[in-house]
Amino acid sequence: MVAMRHLLDLSLEEIGDTLVEWGEPRFRATQIAQWAVHHGVTDFEAMTNLPAPLRARLTVEFSLAPLPVITARTADDGATTKVLLDLGAGAAVEAVRMDYDPDEDESPDRTTVCVSTQVGCAMGCSFCATGQQGFTRNLRPSEILAQVLHFTRERRVTNIVFMGMGEPLANYDATLRAIRWMVHPDGLDLRQRGITVSTVGLVRAIDRLADEGLQVGLTVSLHAPDDELRRRLIDTARGTTIDELVAAAKRYIEKRGRRVTFAYALLDHVNDEPEQATRLARRIRGIQAHVNLIPYNPTAGAGLRRPSRERVRAFQRALQAEGINATVRIERGQEIAAACGQLRTDVMNEKTAPSGAAFAVIEP
Ligand code: SF4
Repeated sequence: MVAMRHLLDLSLEEIGDTLVEWGEPRFRATQIAQWAVHHGVTDFEAMTNLPAPLRARLTVEFSLAPLPVITARTADDGATTKVLLDLGAGAAVEAVRMDYDPDEDESPDRTTVCVSTQVGCAMGCSFCATGQQGFTRNLRPSEILAQVLHFTRERRVTNIVFMGMGEPLANYDATLRAIRWMVHPDGLDLRQRGITVSTVGLVRAIDRLADEGLQVGLTVSLHAPDDELRRRLIDTARGTTIDELVAAAKRYIEKRGRRVTFAYALLDHVNDEPEQATRLARRIRGIQAHVNLIPYNPTAGAGLRRPSRERVRAFQRALQAEGINATVRIERGQEIAAACGQLRTDVMNEKTAPSGAAFAVIEP
């Protein structure tokens, strides 16, 4: 049996093309998008402004099925929820929702969803649970979007960060298709500036993203002040230097007019010496960027430790002393193992995922 195609793997234009081939007016594509994405409807029969024969044909030819929820866990603060969604064939993917209370953190009322783009990851960051499990497959656009739609059915989502499992720019086309649905006025209609793509450093893909005409934010993970250490920490970093990444970030800033964030996972006595902060600062000085420090979230078997609060502060101060804007990630949801670098994809790992984790995210 041939699996039915998910409608949201198509772009709005492609849906229109299909309808035109069927002898339907193109404007129906807009109506369908509004139902399927904006309202999160999962049944064509609910699209009451479409003619019945069209609803019937769509039902036969396309799916709008959401991803079934395997588990959902909410942190004690009630504001951080992680879901494990079933992709079929034994694979699953995690997404996290974080609600920010304006009274508590003096920021506008917002809800951020952290999405995954791959089952597993091939980039091989030594401190990441997803990286340790290897790469299984890319997600389709509809599977990326489904993570957000799961949460938009519960409440309004304002921000998206591509910081879950996988390297978004290694699944470039699906990531871009999902983003286009997120920002389209007939889709989720999110602000482009409310979306952040995070990469461990695919230079050509960064340049490609800069040319897309989108205003999405970019986070580049450095994690080391020199190439030798970076290559020890990130298996796949061999072919790329920090200078090349910084140059790509600079081009992104010039083309998009947006500040770039450099992410830096702090590992106790590995890359967290103030002297390393000073060297890092000198490599990135002079460009419109800031550094987001992520105290390491332990993963089973990695043999790395989280630095003390004092070491984190000392590293931050050393960056600031060199004129670099540096922040430490806000930590939330300590007990639900939804931390950056801790997301895993299968049910067995979900049951055994390390507890005491802290989820945190860079806010654009
Ligand atoms: S940190 Fe990101 S890029 Fe690195 S292995 Fe994990 S998921 Fe992949």
